[in-house]
Formats: sequence, C-alpha cells, structure tokens
Amino acid sequence: THFGYRTVPLAEKQALVDDVFHKVARRYDIMNDLMSGGLHRAWKDALVSKVRPPQGARPFHLLDLAGGTGDVSFRVVEAGGPGTHAIVADINTDMLAVGRERAEKRGLADRVAFQEANAEALPFPDMSFDAVTIAFGIRNVPRIDLALREMRRVLKPGGRAFVLEFSKVDVPLLNKVYDAFSFRLIPQIGKRVAGDAEPYQYLVESIRRFPTAEAFAGMMREAGFARVTFTRMTGGVVALHSGFRI
Ligand code: SAM
Repeated sequence: THFGYRTVPLAEKQALVDDVFHKVARRYDIMNDLMSGGLHRAWKDALVSKVRPPQGARPFHLLDLAGGTGDVSFRVVEAGGPGTHAIVADINTDMLAVGRERAEKRGLADRVAFQEANAEALPFPDMSFDAVTIAFGIRNVPRIDLALREMRRVLKPGGRAFVLEFSKVDVPLLNKVYDAFSFRLIPQIGKRVAGDAEPYQYLVESIRRFPTAEAFAGMMREAGFARVTFTRMTGGVVALHSGFRI
C-alpha cells in the first residue's frame, strides 16, 4: 500500500479484529469506560455537536459505520428532532445484537436500525445519507481507502462524513504517559475483563500504526472528500476529521 502501514495480511487483520469484538461484545460498553477513563463520552459528545442533527421534523438520515453497540447513533438521534434516524452498520453481529437490546431499552428502536455491513463494501445505494459517522472504527478496517470511498459514495451531495479516531499525542510528557498506559494497562484491562490480553495488544498496536491527523486528512482528500478539516482532542489522543461530498 502507498500508505505504508499495512503489515498484517488483510484477511488476517479483519479476523483479529472480529475476534476482539466477538469476545468483548457483552462487555464492550464497560470496557470503553474503563479504557478511556470515561473520556470516550466527551469525545462522542464533541462528534454529535458537529453532526448537529436538525431539531425539527426535517428528515435527517445518519449512517453510523462500525457503529458497534450504537452509542453514537443513540446520541445523534436523541440530540435531533423526530425526523432524525440512524442505521448502525457493523461487521460484527454480536455487537449489533447488544446494540439492538440497548435501543429497545432506551425506547429508540423505531429510530435506530441495525444492519450487518462491511465498511469496505456497503450494502446501501449511492447518495442515501445526510451524514456518515465512524467512531473508533476506521482503524480496524483493513483497506481504509476503500471504506473512505464507500462513505463518500453513500452520502448525498452536500452531506458530510465524520471520522473520530485515536491519533498521535503531540504533547511531549503526555506522550510518555499515554504510551505506558496504552501498552501496559490496556492489555491488562483486556485480560481482566474480557479474559484475553493479546487481542488488545493488537488494537493498541493498530493505534500506533494509524496515520497522523495530517496524513489522514490527505487520505480523505484522496478519497474525494472536499473541505477536509480536523481537530485534535485531549492533546492528540483522538482526532475528529470531517469532509463533505460536494
Ligand atoms: N463506534 C462504536 C463506538 O464508538 O462505541 C464502536 C467502535 S468499536 C471500537 C469498533 C467496531 O468496528 C467494532 O464493532 C467492529 O466490529 C467494527 N468493525 C471492524 N471492522 C469492520 C469492518 N470492516 N466493517 C464494519 N465494521 C467493522
């Protein structure tokens, strides 16, 4: 690949990722809180405030890619008016099953749908969505360039894609703390809570290999997105990118 960070063969990479989320589906939400110290909530709030679903009855259709147990979709639908609907699309049916239960409990089952889908080949027609989000998902997709093209394809003209993902810490001391935390603590939490450290090791390494915010913005432009921008949060622990289909 010309992006130069693909080291594990593609099928193997997807299998590793599937294994992680298969094992962790039931405990995913608590793991998220543990591993991010609750920060993922603030990062997702920042994402939702950028998506800005309409307040009124105006229809607004969100595709929440790699949407897992539905967190981002629930937040967007709850922030929007009655015209706001979301599809949670994910490759892992265990994650989707947990999401469906959560949607029922939150009374959102009529506005949030769940569908099995691979981000590299989406089962949706061209120009179907007002916005596409992918939160902590694109890093797991073996061929990111394909996923970005698919995201653009299913957006309506004028629609916007948002990518929330771990990035590179750019604060010198925080950098050290973060490395120690992610390389030692995350696999340990994984072992304690999900019973297996190795898959988490893999996820932590995938964060390391993920391109810088500038490089990722370039990948979005290459996939055809216009007016690509990004903001770093928490000293660069995560970055939120967006781009328009025009
Ligand atoms: N977006 C949710 C959130 O922020 O809580 C879930 C993020 S979780 C860290 C990553 C998700 O990506 C998992 O649910 C996993 O199944 C999904 N995933 C991995 N590879 C995928 C692919 N090729 N296509 C679609 N989803 C994928």
